[in-house]
Amino acid sequence: MNLSEYELREKLLKIARKCLRYRLMAGTWGNLSARLDREKVLITPSGYEKTALKPEDLLLMDLDGNILRGDLKPTIETSMHLEIYKARDDVNAVIHTHSPYAMMLSVINEPIPVLTVEFASAVGHEVPVTELALPGTKDLADEVVRALGEDKMAVLMRNHGVVAVGGSLEEAYNVAILVEEESRTYFWAMLLGRGEVGRMPAELVERMRRFFREDYGQEGRIVLDLE
Ligand SMILES: [Zn+2]
Repeated sequence: MNLSEYELREKLLKIARKCLRYRLMAGTWGNLSARLDREKVLITPSGYEKTALKPEDLLLMDLDGNILRGDLKPTIETSMHLEIYKARDDVNAVIHTHSPYAMMLSVINEPIPVLTVEFASAVGHEVPVTELALPGTKDLADEVVRALGEDKMAVLMRNHGVVAVGGSLEEAYNVAILVEEESRTYFWAMLLGRGEVGRMPAELVERMRRFFREDYGQEGRIVLDLE
């Protein structure tokens, strides 16, 4: 195992711990993966609370689903992760969460609209809901890939939760957090009977998205506290 693989393993676990700390995942649910290179990804094992994981517990897999390094059974959602990497060259990390407000919207089959400037910037699109398909099935993987399309950053899996993607683990985590924040804002706006009122016009969403891509952060990089 070379240094860059070990560093990516450590970073993935730090991001996983943040997911638990901010309640994007609970118990053993949710899973994460990151691309090591064009053909190989690191992915979390099945049935582990993410805080219990050590760097060597992650599975190194190729995009055909062969385990290249590791003894544990990979997450049930492995095919969904791998199909996303096959379909999207721009994606280097995938995070699947069961965050509570987004889960609620996935249950009532309600796409998340763009309501806030931060969501317009870092996500930049309404988050669609997939058709209902069972965890671990090819149907679910196909549905997620279809809903993500060529450039979406997140989708809601019907009755199941969130899939967030990014060019890095930091970006995918940022998307996962913002999906939950936007879901909570939308929930309260709907409860006040004003869910339709706050939607941002498409032209302003596009401008915010461009600003985020070109001017926000440190040359396209966002920096997280990974301790
Ligand atoms: Zn799940």
